[in-house]
Amino acid sequence: MRILLVEDDRDIGARLKEGLGGLGLVVEQVEDGEHGLSYALQEQFDAIVLDLGLPGLPGIEVLRGWRLAGCATPVLILTARNTWSEKVEGLNAGADDYVTKPFQVDEIAARLRALMRRVAGQATPELRHGDITLDPVSRTAGVAGRPIDLTAQEFRLLNFFMHRVGRVVTQAELLDHLYGLDEERSSNTIEVYVGRLRRKIGREAIRTLRGLGYRFG
Ligand code: CA
Repeated sequence: MRILLVEDDRDIGARLKEGLGGLGLVVEQVEDGEHGLSYALQEQFDAIVLDLGLPGLPGIEVLRGWRLAGCATPVLILTARNTWSEKVEGLNAGADDYVTKPFQVDEIAARLRALMRRVAGQATPELRHGDITLDPVSRTAGVAGRPIDLTAQEFRLLNFFMHRVGRVVTQAELLDHLYGLDEERSSNTIEVYVGRLRRKIGREAIRTLRGLGYRFG
């Protein structure tokens, strides 16, 4: 199980890496909010431990960004102050649980296990942006409540975009995501796929940014 820790305090990081590592959980730490926001959208994690007091982008904004981008990974927030408002705000922003500092590593471990069990027992939530929906489990998509027929590549492309709402996606990123290293790559085919996807989900859903790439949403 792979855990992302977004926490600027290195001592806490070291404690969690050691404590959770002994229980078979791999902990990767990033120390600022912006990096945490993008990293969780790029990589697959089983759960995230998020400190709310971060330099740069505050933890609560990081959490909102993940949920807005369709990231459904369970999030355990660390709150420094034992205030109700912070916990309520965190839970409303999409956190699944919280622990107040100072904490025991055993408590974090127990809560993470409970979160991951809960997630494993239910289907991955459907991704939604505007009237476009995508279900990664049944591999179906729809627009305005009507199912749309996508090829495997179109589905991967839409899934990739729906995890990166509002971000500039380069052709190189799309090539990396859509093709294995041994497959022949061509940026022309990306344009063709984007064109086909636009016809199915609406032209305005994906913008072309000349010289940069594409932006969804
Ligand atoms: Ca902190």
